[in-house]
Amino acid sequence: MSRNDSLVFLPTQLVEGSSRFEIEADIDELDLAEYTFSVPLRCEIVLERTGDRIDAHLDLETSLKLSCSRCGESMRQDICASADVTFLPEVKNKEDADEQDATDLEFYSEVLDLRDIVRDMFLLALPIAPLCSEDCRGLCPSCGANLNRENCKCNIQGNPSTFEKLRRLVDE
Ligand SMILES: [Zn+2]
Ligand SMILES: [Zn+2]
Repeated sequence: MSRNDSLVFLPTQLVEGSSRFEIEADIDELDLAEYTFSVPLRCEIVLERTGDRIDAHLDLETSLKLSCSRCGESMRQDICASADVTFLPEVKNKEDADEQDATDLEFYSEVLDLRDIVRDMFLLALPIAPLCSEDCRGLCPSCGANLNRENCKCNIQGNPSTFEKLRRLVDE
């Protein structure tokens, strides 16, 4: 296994065949400093070089602190993502781009820069509505109590939940 300290590679230094890298991505460099990571953003990268063509396989793994979208409590979110991307040299891109499925095709010039790809993979893997647990009960809409921790008195005092109200409407 080779070591590389960044996500920017020099294609001229890649040997024919496959090279494997394990990298701890620089969060600032990826412009992800707004997130609170519990462990480093680890990338395992395999670059398979065949002539000018470089097939990259990327695996990301990390864990970060987010707020539950229902109860607002701080929670740990594990992130895992994989992607396959084919790189061709920029000068050849016209003919080759037509032959390939354009969605997973990228181009390299003097450098092969994986930073944008890793950043996008990370952002796409983030849950839109993170949950501290599948059955998080959230906050009481009337009093704001965290219903995972306490049962507030709102329901008992005759303040039916939205679901209850809807059910009654349907029944009538
Ligand atoms: Zn929650
Ligand atoms: Zn309540």
